[in-house]
Amino acid sequence: MANPFEDMPKPLPAATETSTPFWAGLREGEVRLQRCDDCGRWIFYPRSNCPGCLSNELAWHAVSGRGVLHTFTVAHQPTNPLFADETPQKLAIVELVEGVHVPSTLVDVAPDAIEIGMALEPVFETTEGGEGVLLRFRPAASEENR
Ligand SMILES: [Zn+2]
Repeated sequence: MANPFEDMPKPLPAATETSTPFWAGLREGEVRLQRCDDCGRWIFYPRSNCPGCLSNELAWHAVSGRGVLHTFTVAHQPTNPLFADETPQKLAIVELVEGVHVPSTLVDVAPDAIEIGMALEPVFETTEGGEGVLLRFRPAASEENR
């Protein structure tokens, strides 16, 4: 049976006033995180107040985007019909160096090569229609090859 969703565009994250700097950073090839000026805590997802001390003195900082795989699942059934072309989907929670957890998907890795704790680096993926840039992750190149 033909996929009735085949010609529909995939839904994109909607930037809010609070999250706009994060999405703008991705378009410029940078991962940007908020950090609390009062207690120093790194924050993700973007918020108006620090989840640690409730301060609203949060500032944006560019970070490396590097981290390790905290956990993952390989979805053989698409999580939405529009993502059928991406199956198996390699859904991941990535722990960045700063300690925050970022939901994402893995690219450039076979499902059976995925290991919790593996080093990851960011991939800035322009969406099919070119409207935005999504943050994905792939296995980090070894330090000697950088
Ligand atoms: Zn704080």
